[in-house]
Amino acid sequence: MGSLSLTIPTDVFDRLDSYIKMAEGEVLGFGLVTQSGPTSFILDEVFLVEQEAGFAHVDVPDEAMHRMVTDLVEAGRGSELERLYLWWHSHGRLDPFLSKTDLDTIERLGTVGDYIISVVGNKMGGY
Ligand SMILES: [Zn+2]
Repeated sequence: MGSLSLTIPTDVFDRLDSYIKMAEGEVLGFGLVTQSGPTSFILDEVFLVEQEAGFAHVDVPDEAMHRMVTDLVEAGRGSELERLYLWWHSHGRLDPFLSKTDLDTIERLGTVGDYIISVVGNKMGGY
């Protein structure tokens, strides 16, 4: 796949940024994405995945993911699940690079849908 562009509207970005800044350490979540062109995407909405204290770095908790999916379905938004293609997480105060673990996670999540877009940030506002 060539290079992709992801547009993040200001209000969505502010929300993502506040999730990352309010968290004690590393956090993660998912996002709904609309494909706006052959290689361009728009991030419409972000979700924070609830997590237990002390869970290991970027090990996406299946249980939390299932709960988020259930919540969406119960809210009558089940059809939007097909746009749930973005996985974001923060590195707390560390550099926002994709680690080996991150790449493994992306590979695992990538088997769920056609593609997966990953955003990594940190508390200093780096992405
Ligand atoms: Zn990471």
